Amino acid sequence: MELKKNDILTVIIQDLGSEGEGIAKVEGYPIFIKDAVPNDVVKIKIIKAKKTYGYGRVEEIIEPSKDRVEPKCPVARQCGGCSLQHYSYEKQLEYKQNKVKNCLERIGGLVGIEEKMEPILGMEEPWYYRNKAQFPVGKNKDGKIVTGFYAGRTHSIIDNTHCYIQAKINETILEMIKEFLQEYQIAPYEEESHQGLVRHILTRVGFVTGEIMVCLVLNGEVLPNADKLIERLIKIDGMKSISINSNKEKTNKILGNKVITLWGSDTITDYIGDVKYQISPLSFYQVNPIQTKVLYKKALEYAQLKGEETVWDLYCGIGTISLFLAQKAKQVYGVEIIPEAIEDARKNAKLNGMDNVEFFVGKAEDVLPEQYEKNKVYADVIVVDPPRKGCDETLLNTMVTMQPKRIVYVSCDPATLARDLKILCANGYEVEKVQVVDQFGHTAHVETVCLLNCKK
Ligand code: SAH
Repeated sequence: MELKKNDILTVIIQDLGSEGEGIAKVEGYPIFIKDAVPNDVVKIKIIKAKKTYGYGRVEEIIEPSKDRVEPKCPVARQCGGCSLQHYSYEKQLEYKQNKVKNCLERIGGLVGIEEKMEPILGMEEPWYYRNKAQFPVGKNKDGKIVTGFYAGRTHSIIDNTHCYIQAKINETILEMIKEFLQEYQIAPYEEESHQGLVRHILTRVGFVTGEIMVCLVLNGEVLPNADKLIERLIKIDGMKSISINSNKEKTNKILGNKVITLWGSDTITDYIGDVKYQISPLSFYQVNPIQTKVLYKKALEYAQLKGEETVWDLYCGIGTISLFLAQKAKQVYGVEIIPEAIEDARKNAKLNGMDNVEFFVGKAEDVLPEQYEKNKVYADVIVVDPPRKGCDETLLNTMVTMQPKRIVYVSCDPATLARDLKILCANGYEVEKVQVVDQFGHTAHVETVCLLNCKK
């Protein structure tokens, strides 16, 4: 069958793709269809037809799947944030568990992996779970200030202050700022012309402490009438830090390097379990604190520490996992490429009175081999938590040579996890357990933690 652009046809959705899009097959030709879920019968329009696959758009849901639910959020479909709100949470979890299993089998070549997989850990209440948000600010056709999230794959803002996966307090903060900008005629930033002042509103909330941070990202360094905004914002219970971040570059990067505190503290404090962290507008910090605790507890359980172990935590960020491990290990070494993150990590170690942690700035694939060759460093356990692209092969080789008893692999991309596990398993390790944790409900993102044992 030859499909072309603008063709209209009716299909049954058979599967969900890696981004959470529905997949239908017409005589073996796969069509990717956003906003459709398995067992939906939908009328679609072909929007792009390539040689071996195509893209379609839902024109009409003819018969909804029994797993389809009404999204809570009225703008869920337009907004680029949630891609799966129209799919029951139970089914979202099943999809994520399967996604990991399929990657481990197909890419990792791990036969019988299903038996090693523990049931996915989802959230009891998968709503209002994020502690960090960055809302772009703009103007609508009538010149009114709007803020919310971008529509999928664009930079047009869907005006919405009540996001169902963000901390609830954001609505109050955003409404206040919108009103203030309108009242004092402060212009939002315009990307095309590089004119205007206010680019983004960044908020962070400490879920344990209740402390709130608001940071306005400006194409400049001064917010006119800032005192009037501060006066209003500090009426919010828990307000702890109000600042400006200056970003005058023509860039997609949200934050610039310079932060000026306008009111209160430079940082807010939060806890994961018993460990305390100080967070600045620029710090990397896990965005779902409830599930981060679940994930780290699992990583700690897999590490099986008794207090005598030397542990390496590679890709350690601000040392969140390192400090969690340090509660139970003799010595922890953290490695991270971003110097500012390591500064935070050192501060956090001090804040918690932990003196059994040491941090290195650099690439994990440079630092570990160097330390191993020069100083013959040793590890009972190695923990890795790389970005989506996974671990460098040089690093995997060094790990294998060092022969730690256990490797705990924390991953945000099952495809690269599977690729790396294949290498480790071909070199003396075996997968003992796999745990998928849902950190990002209503999106297609999956987080996995995996325990590997040295066979010797
Ligand atoms: N473990 C941390 C952060 C994980 S995110 C936590 O749970 O909070 C991955 C981290 O790896 C980021 O902080 C990123 O800056 C860092 N990173 C990326 N490439 C790296 C490399 N080659 N070597 C070391 N760290 C790297």
